[in-house]
Amino acid sequence: ATRPGLPDDTDLAARARAALLACGADEAALAGDQPARTPITGGELARVTWATAAEVDDAVGRAVEAFATWRTTPAPVRGALVKRLGELLAEHKDDLAVLVSLEAGKTTSEARGEVQEMIDICDLAVGMSRQLYGRTMPSERPGHRLMETWHPLGVVGVISAFNFPVAVWSWNTAVALVCGDPVIWKPSEATPLSSLGAAALLDRAIADTGAPQHVSQLLLGGRDVGEALVDHPDVALLSATGSTRMGREVAPRVAGRFGRYLLELGGNNAAIVAPSADLDLAVRGIVFAAAGTAGQRCTTMRRVIAHSSVVDELVERVAAAYRTLAIGDPTTDGVLVGPLIGAPAYETMTAALTAATEQGGQIVCGGTRVLEDLAPDAYYVEPAVVRMPGQTAIVRQETFAPIVYVLAYEELDEAIALHNAVPHGLSSSIFTADQAEAERFLAADGSDCGISNVNIGTSGAEIGGAFGGEKETGGGRESGSDAWKAYMRRATNTVNYSGELPLAQGVEFA
Ligand code: NAD
Repeated sequence: ATRPGLPDDTDLAARARAALLACGADEAALAGDQPARTPITGGELARVTWATAAEVDDAVGRAVEAFATWRTTPAPVRGALVKRLGELLAEHKDDLAVLVSLEAGKTTSEARGEVQEMIDICDLAVGMSRQLYGRTMPSERPGHRLMETWHPLGVVGVISAFNFPVAVWSWNTAVALVCGDPVIWKPSEATPLSSLGAAALLDRAIADTGAPQHVSQLLLGGRDVGEALVDHPDVALLSATGSTRMGREVAPRVAGRFGRYLLELGGNNAAIVAPSADLDLAVRGIVFAAAGTAGQRCTTMRRVIAHSSVVDELVERVAAAYRTLAIGDPTTDGVLVGPLIGAPAYETMTAALTAATEQGGQIVCGGTRVLEDLAPDAYYVEPAVVRMPGQTAIVRQETFAPIVYVLAYEELDEAIALHNAVPHGLSSSIFTADQAEAERFLAADGSDCGISNVNIGTSGAEIGGAFGGEKETGGGRESGSDAWKAYMRRATNTVNYSGELPLAQGVEFA
């Protein structure tokens, strides 16, 4: 049916199909029986085929075979594959972005940004392919060399979440491939078409560069497919992005077989707004981080801890900005807030707002469902600002929806204590013009998060740094800096060219 103000399901399905085929996906991939839906209307885009848990073993077998060739392929040659992937991503940036918008409900600009992030990580990984450095240390023995070498680790299993349907895969895959590891990807159930598009581009890059076919495999499917990857003894590294609930299930299972895991889980990210803060900057930073992507980023700002001297004005200005946000079809120019991913997300948001009110909170603006008449199966909501009398139970939880709780503080120590008193430890920021305050926030007794920012919001990280967080965020690091080390194994080498056999620590054995 035509819905004024929202696109037609047939039109959305046609857009998805065209984008997918342009990426080079096989038409046969669309002949399955599992519906792929769009949160824009709740309608069906296509039907795909899910793998079964039983198919995981074969996929791992093929990856193990590919590893035998790939691990001895020189790293800069492996880099050539990733370079080609980056070129294809640049060529098909808009196609892949269409799929991301349609399946994750992101605005066109944010969806393009997600693909740009993939291109950026390819650039970084290509450079890394010539910089997988080991160190040389002074040996205590004459005529000896002590050094370390980094070797490919093995098969990497990637499990990803709906909200970054393709970027998270690329952070892992671009780096794993230059490190010499084949990748098997189990994407979110909600975003099969985006993953088919991205995987098709990598398949083309593999064909163009003559790399082993099975260095990349995609397994669409449910949790059971993820669990089979988690439990497989030949998956050397399991990199999983999603909820803390998922990580809590995955981590002990991988640890139980002495596998390696890299976890990127939930966040409950906050900004402290100090008395000296530039409020224009703070308002813009808060609105993008709290309402952008309809509050569905792991780095979304969920708490604002503002000094009592600025909190009233800040809330007023954030609420005023919220009232101007265009909510609707995220593929339309000017729209800044798209839909929630589905009914459960909406129910969670409503329940959180009810709990917040019961716990003494006051909803300043937002929280109402909109466009329900046009699309009863889509869940658009006005982002909410809620004043709280303290950091109650609901404030300490991650609710994956656009709710920002505002608390007041008097002393910076108190603000930092509140800031850290949540189970997650992903991203954080402080808005202040006082350098001593900023340094205090970044110091060992400041923010306990993996990402700590000054005068910028909590979301929108660049790929050059290591990405990830502490506590219930899972402790993993991906992307830049030395995050590549998680995808390799270290060997320490002692080489004796002395013709003698001196023992370390001066031990005599004769
Ligand atoms: P989710 O946990 O429901 O699902 C994530 C993935 O895990 C899916 O592919 C799912 O099939 C799989 N999965 C679920 N249970 C599993 C199990 N027991 N074994 C193996 N696989 C399993 O998460 P979601 O709703 O798709 O995403 C939202 C969550 O992800 C939020 O909590 C958000 O903060 C988090 N997230 C974190 C990051 C980060 O980098 N830290 C990035 C994006 C999203």
